[in-house]
Amino acid sequence: MTATDSRFADAIAKLPAALRAAGFRGEVERDSALRAAMSTDNSVYRILPDLIVAPRDAEDVVTAMSVIERPEFAHLALTARGGGTGTNGQSLNRGVILDMRRHMHRLLEVDPAGQWADVEPGIVLDDLNAQLRPRGVFFAPETSTSTRCVVGGMVSTDASGKGSRIYGKTSDNLVGVEIARGQGLVSSLGDAPDWAQPMLQAAERAARAGRAAFVANTPRLNRRFTGYDLERACPEEGGFDWWRLFPGSEGTLGPITRIRVKLRPLPKQKRLVVAGFASFRDSLAAALPLMQDDPTAIEVMDERVQALASEAGLLGSLPETLRPKGGEALAYTFVEINGDSAEALEAGLAACEARLRGLPGIRAVHVASGADEIRELWAIRSAGVGLLGKVEGRARPVAFVEDCVVPPEALPAFLDGFLEILTRHGLSFGIYGHVDVGCLHIRPALDIDAEEDRARLVEVSDEIYALVNRHGGIFWGEHGKGVRGAYLEGWIGPEAYEALQGVKAAFDPAGRYNPGKLVATDTPVMGIATTPFRPFNAPEGDALEKAFRCNGNAQCLSYAASTPMCPSFKATEDLRHSPKGRADAMRAWQEGRRTGVQTVEEADLLGTLDTCLGCKACASSCPVQVDIPSMRAAVYADVYARKARPLTDRAMLLAERLSPWLVRAAPLTRPFWPLARRIFERVLGVTDLPGSLARPLPRAARLSVRELGSESLPERTVLVWMDWFSALYDEATQSDVLRGLTALGYAPRFVEMLPAGKVAGDLGDAAGFRAMADRLSAALRKGAATGAPMIGLDPAFVMALRQDYRKAGLDAPALLLPQEFLASELRAGVRLPQATGGGLSLFTHCTESTAAPAARKEWQAVFAGIGLGIETPATGCCGMAGMFGHKDRHQEMSRKLFDLSWAGPVAGAEEAAATGFSCRCQSERLGGKALRHPLGLIADRLDAPA
Ligand SMILES: Cc1cc2nc3c(=O)[nH]c(=O)nc-3n(C[C@H](O)[C@H](O)[C@H](O)COP(=O)(O)OP(=O)(O)OC[C@H]3O[C@@H](n4cnc5c(N)ncnc54)[C@H](O)[C@@H]3O)c2cc1C
Ligand code: SF4
Ligand code: SF4
Repeated sequence: MTATDSRFADAIAKLPAALRAAGFRGEVERDSALRAAMSTDNSVYRILPDLIVAPRDAEDVVTAMSVIERPEFAHLALTARGGGTGTNGQSLNRGVILDMRRHMHRLLEVDPAGQWADVEPGIVLDDLNAQLRPRGVFFAPETSTSTRCVVGGMVSTDASGKGSRIYGKTSDNLVGVEIARGQGLVSSLGDAPDWAQPMLQAAERAARAGRAAFVANTPRLNRRFTGYDLERACPEEGGFDWWRLFPGSEGTLGPITRIRVKLRPLPKQKRLVVAGFASFRDSLAAALPLMQDDPTAIEVMDERVQALASEAGLLGSLPETLRPKGGEALAYTFVEINGDSAEALEAGLAACEARLRGLPGIRAVHVASGADEIRELWAIRSAGVGLLGKVEGRARPVAFVEDCVVPPEALPAFLDGFLEILTRHGLSFGIYGHVDVGCLHIRPALDIDAEEDRARLVEVSDEIYALVNRHGGIFWGEHGKGVRGAYLEGWIGPEAYEALQGVKAAFDPAGRYNPGKLVATDTPVMGIATTPFRPFNAPEGDALEKAFRCNGNAQCLSYAASTPMCPSFKATEDLRHSPKGRADAMRAWQEGRRTGVQTVEEADLLGTLDTCLGCKACASSCPVQVDIPSMRAAVYADVYARKARPLTDRAMLLAERLSPWLVRAAPLTRPFWPLARRIFERVLGVTDLPGSLARPLPRAARLSVRELGSESLPERTVLVWMDWFSALYDEATQSDVLRGLTALGYAPRFVEMLPAGKVAGDLGDAAGFRAMADRLSAALRKGAATGAPMIGLDPAFVMALRQDYRKAGLDAPALLLPQEFLASELRAGVRLPQATGGGLSLFTHCTESTAAPAARKEWQAVFAGIGLGIETPATGCCGMAGMFGHKDRHQEMSRKLFDLSWAGPVAGAEEAAATGFSCRCQSERLGGKALRHPLGLIADRLDAPA
């Protein structure tokens, strides 16, 4: 260890205590899994930070900085991090990371006249706009990452997206900012304190000196150049707007603690036109003529992205006319037209449609008007970048030349040049983008592990940089600079660059804020090839392969309570407890075992895995299906081959294996269960186990596995398969399903329960899983041979069979969910008995909502088929997830999750059902409301006998 290293290590070791002593209130952590989670973003780079500090508010940031500015800590780098969605390593650095997303996410004040709002920098864009919506105003810059990027990150990258031709970039939608230093806060909305004057005066001197060169060297485009905007900081009319230097500054001038954003009235009317073209070139060429109709946004998506969307089943919301037929290639153009007057909008729309129909290569045009349809269609375009990440193979799309901007009229020629470069380098790619402002997103596919592809990354980057300059464009048109700041000096010229350096030196004389980004001072800028790359591919057959595939696009960090992914992140707002964080930790751990340089401690890794609810939302909703529970099982198998498993896990493994006997013995053990339950709860550290064991159903409703196939089954028999929780505890649901199906005219027979091996599979007991899964698969095959339809009672059980059995290569016939079976009956023309009434609500299981997204629509169709209306509110995870919510150590998280998205709708529901056993248990114990199975509601409404 060098003297510098040991000075650094010493400072990092002392900083937590110094922060506490100074009264810092947020978290200060060195947990290796958290550091791994903070070491990546959506780029191909990885820089391991040393300490994570999560301030509670602006004052807390000041406290932290007052300590970090002391001489003994003055050499530590300090980098603010928001949503971590940067595509070029913007928020990655060594030293201290200030996690602004975790606590600092409040909407602080809204101007009564609706002109502006003050926010903390960690507020998520969609969260801000959801809170503003009732006031009829919004913050206009719209990114594809609006579910997880934060306003502080948007300001610091000067983000933009759809609609920027009309609304501009983030910097066009700001009123001012507040920044922090150890001495206190400086707000552009008030007078600067005396101690800040020398800093601001030095910045003004540098900005004035370089302004003319800056103006001369930056193209006059809608997507203007920012990242120390010397032009607007020194307005022609005089004065010095120092805060104008911060948009696009990427944390290099220090932390922003408060932002005043400009608000705009929400347009009253919105329409979206989607046009299908024979080729991407045709769809691109449509942009210029379409601009005559002054739309809010024009976006495109090429044939490759369209094909990926089609493969992923995302084109379901498109009308038939716009879906590709028989392998045909289609490119799409999306045109959004907004306004307040319906008549004016209709006129604009008619003009746009007429223009589209006359354009070369046009195949079909569709106009969407309802808010839901518009949202669904835009979601197809927004999914573009995630879909590109889904590409199989070692070479996958990489963001490094993906947001170039050129004048819109230069786009076709620019695209020719771009494609020529990619073809010459033999690279595949997909394209989408904002053509109205001349911004195309193109991600060439590279294998970053391969030296020749890393060399190619540099060559292609240099060539595209030169191409953009030839077309009078900007290399960093949307996603900020990050390690691509290395091009800045050559691009902006020596005089303007020197001014940028002067601004940096004024705000950051010690060069410690996000060092190595944007401009060089004493620290050289990081380069696109000199910044460490993250491992890109796992060795062949690695059980943690998907962890290497995680590309950090952060879709799993959505803030919205009513979306399923990811409950543990929503409850903690702690990156290590998200799919991304877990994938980062597993990748680093696995790599450490291979290289012998371990950066993630096993205990820290197990800590992040323990908080995963196993809901499997990531396995379905992550664009590259980073299936955390499956990889967790592999880690457990590895770890617990070396050491003893926790007692609760051993008890659960045993209980699953013995469950057929437990179910059989239930009539005898029922009276003793209340006492046994209390003992189990105390010994195993669990709580609120189900209150009673189920009594068996009447013999006529049951069927043993041996009997399957040995007797002929009556007409309209439906075989019902159960998991061991439902069989052992859920008498009410068994009865509801029996009564409901019978009332609908079916003859349900409950097949003897055989455990699926789900617990064994989840806990990494591969042999136990295989033995149980083989037995159940054989029984399912016998059941399928009877020809009777087969349904599974609990969604988590059905989904485990669909996902885990398939993955394990088991030959097990599929079970249908009850609604899938009944909806298919309706589609086949079966008429169901009729009932009347409403006032019903239904909550679906989160695993079902993500893996079988049609669930809510299908239940609605089933209830409609009986003449009943039913509400199906969107919810996230209820917080129970099998045994998760029963464990004492998870009580806080489990309750928080229930409160987040279930408590309100459950309390407000008149008569309600839930499809999942876990969700019914959770609603009863935390919401005080016993929910039914939906077939129970049907049974009651059809007056089925008890
Ligand atoms: C799939 C995908 C799609 C994308 N689409 C778009 C798009 O449509 N439009 C677009 O503009 N971008 C897009 N991006 C890029 C990215 O989402 C934006 O750059 C976004 O603004 C980053 O915000 P963040 O909160 O994630 O910030 P981070 O990535 O966490 O940080 C970005 C920079 O801001 C700095 N920073 C963060 N908070 C503060 C603070 N409080 N004080 C000082 N500095 C701070 C960080 O140090 C860092 O340099 C996309 C990225 C992905 C992965
Ligand atoms: S886990 Fe999936 S959704 Fe989350 S960051 Fe990784 S790739 Fe993206
Ligand atoms: S299984 Fe659920 S809780 Fe676990 S990482 Fe995936 S989404 Fe998060």
